[in-house]
Amino acid sequence: MVNNSNHIHFDVIIVGSGPAGSTAAYFLAKRGCKVLVLEKERLPRYKVCGGGVVRRIKKILPFSWNGIMEDEFYSVDVFDHSTKLHFKTIRNEPIIMMSMRENLDSFLLSKAEEAGAFIKDGHIVKSISLLDDNVLLSTNYGDIEGKFLIAADGATGISAKFLGLNKNLIHLPAIETETEVNIESYSKFFESPRFDFGLVDRGYAWVFPKKDHLSIGVVLMKKDKVNLNEAFKKYLSLLGINEIIHTEKHGYIIPINRNNKNFGIKRLLLTGDAAGLADPVTAEGISNAVLSGYLAANALIKKDFDVRYVNNFYDQSVYDNILTENNYANFISNLVYRNARVRTALFKIYGQKLSELITDIFTGEKTYKSIMTNPASYLKLIKYFFIAEQKINN
Ligand SMILES: Cc1cc2nc3c(=O)[nH]c(=O)nc-3n(C[C@H](O)[C@H](O)[C@H](O)COP(=O)(O)OP(=O)(O)OC[C@H]3O[C@@H](n4cnc5c(N)ncnc54)[C@H](O)[C@@H]3O)c2cc1C
Repeated sequence: MVNNSNHIHFDVIIVGSGPAGSTAAYFLAKRGCKVLVLEKERLPRYKVCGGGVVRRIKKILPFSWNGIMEDEFYSVDVFDHSTKLHFKTIRNEPIIMMSMRENLDSFLLSKAEEAGAFIKDGHIVKSISLLDDNVLLSTNYGDIEGKFLIAADGATGISAKFLGLNKNLIHLPAIETETEVNIESYSKFFESPRFDFGLVDRGYAWVFPKKDHLSIGVVLMKKDKVNLNEAFKKYLSLLGINEIIHTEKHGYIIPINRNNKNFGIKRLLLTGDAAGLADPVTAEGISNAVLSGYLAANALIKKDFDVRYVNNFYDQSVYDNILTENNYANFISNLVYRNARVRTALFKIYGQKLSELITDIFTGEKTYKSIMTNPASYLKLIKYFFIAEQKINN
């Protein structure tokens, strides 16, 4: 589809083999483009992540996921510890699927490889030169050239730093553990994923059941001076987990975009965590990583690799499909995480409704935009927010 001159080996080089990179590689390779994925780790690689995959991902990747996911869940529990309230949402189709990321990412990458993409693991991209006609990458195995670069190198990758765009990212800290507990404890948590609020003011904690263990973690959704290790200990005791057979604890960050609107710069398209596209309410980042990978591939194909048009097209696609959503989500994020008293009041009045709305967003039945532009729900939330704020200030 693209003319290859002798010195340009690849139509697209993709840095990073997470969900964003493998999705972009899959859609480009399917269209006959010559694609190379560079991954710095040896594959399969562990990724610090709860591994919860929301159903809306199936709209973009309509694969059969049989055997890839650990389990799928038709219900979700939400607990608010300040009000001692519990909300449960139930659907006829799975709301959220549980994965181990090494399996999910290997599966997505195998789809890209089957479509014709080249994969090189153990290849660390060390520097990027964006030239007029191509992109030059320096790696631990030498230099590699391509026509375009898709940056899918995650939260701590080189691309956003290289472009100076990491200044536009807020890095949310999180602790995640893969924890094996006894049968008695496991059986208390294996039926549904749960989200716990009120343990830390500006974030939430979770338990995600996997096949033979639990993913337990805490994330801050706004900057705060909280000792996450202490919060995590408190959470275990609140859950009544006293005996742990084995646990692996990891700390990592989730970047959230603050105000960047340019994701296509010269011959480079930023995707997934490298662009800070995770959801500001839930920190769910896999589905937007996949969506942005698809949008980047689509921009290159639709605009026939013409650098004069690709960037604007990609920026507009990210804006329409992800940023607009995340901007509306920010409003809800401020309600839930900015002030503990506002959240308490919000949960008391709208706890079940809010849990249902977020569930509908997970499944793809609704969008933040559809919720926030619906005069009924929008005005109710706004009105309540201001009343609550006023009460706090008086
Ligand atoms: C504790 C925690 C829990 C989470 N839980 C969930 C959850 O349950 N559900 C959910 O949807 N999201 C969750 N997220 C967010 C989710 O993990 C990310 O949003 C998602 O992985 C982003 O995908 P990506 O493809 O953009 O990047 P990644 O999956 O991070 O992939 C980036 C890849 O790039 C590679 N790379 C980096 N630098 C280089 C380089 N210089 N050269 C070559 N390769 C490089 C990395 O090794 C990595 O493999 C969680 C995040 C954290 C931290």
